[in-house]
Amino acid sequence: MGTAVIHFTAAAISDRGRKRPSNEDAFGYSVENGVYVVCDGMGGAAAGEIASSLAVDEVMKLLTNRDGAISLPNDAEQAVAAANQAIFARAERSNKLSGMGTTMVALLAQDRRVWMVNVGDSRGYQMRNGHLQQITVDHSLVEEQVRLGRLDPAEALRSPLRNVITRALGTQSSVTPDIFEIEIEPGDLFLLCSDGLTRELSDASIESLLRVGAPLEELCSGLVSAANQAGGHDNITCLLVRVDA
Ligand code: CA
Repeated sequence: MGTAVIHFTAAAISDRGRKRPSNEDAFGYSVENGVYVVCDGMGGAAAGEIASSLAVDEVMKLLTNRDGAISLPNDAEQAVAAANQAIFARAERSNKLSGMGTTMVALLAQDRRVWMVNVGDSRGYQMRNGHLQQITVDHSLVEEQVRLGRLDPAEALRSPLRNVITRALGTQSSVTPDIFEIEIEPGDLFLLCSDGLTRELSDASIESLLRVGAPLEELCSGLVSAANQAGGHDNITCLLVRVDA
C-alpha cells in the first residue's frame, strides 16, 4: 500500500419496503469525520422511529462535533453508551415510548483502520477481492442457537423467533457493544445494513450484486430493489463505504 492517501466514498438508501406502514430504520454518515451508522428501531406507534433517530443523532453529534482528534475505539464506546442513555431516559419519561429500543451498526474510520461497532442484528460486512464476509455477529436468539449447534442457519431464517434480539440500545440502563478492528486496503467495500436486507437476500446474492462495478448509489438501489423484489417484508437500509487509494 505504501504511503498512498486513503479516501472514502459513501452512499446510503433507506426504504420502507413493501409491507410496513412506516420506516423505523435510520442512518447517518459523515465521510469527512469517518463516521457511518445504521439503526433499526423497535417499539409501538412511533417509538421505533424515535429510538433509531435518537441513536443516529447522538452518535453523529458525539463523533463529529468535537475539538481535537477522536480516540478510537474508546470514543465510539462512549457514544454508544450516550445513545443508549438518551433512549432509555426518553422511554422512562413516557408510557407511549416505554420499551422502545434500536439496533446499531456503526463504522468508524481513522487513518488506515476502521472499527465496526454493533448492538443487535443489524449487520456489518466487508467485501475484499470480490469476497463478502460478515464481520459482526448478530445479537439474536437464533444466532445463539446456531452457535450452540441447536439450529442450522436455514432453520434460523425460518424460525418464528428470528425477530428476537438479545441486545438493543435503550431497553436497559447499560449495554455492551461488540467492536471489531480491521486494517483497511484500497478497494475494500463495507456494507452496513438492517435485517430488512439480510432477511430477503442471502450473503451470496448480496455479494453478486456488489460485484457489479457501479457507483455506490447504484449499488445501494440495486440492493434495495432486490430486497423489495424478494418480498420487502421489512424496512430496508443499506450504507456502503468504499476505500479508495
Ligand atoms: Ca428491521
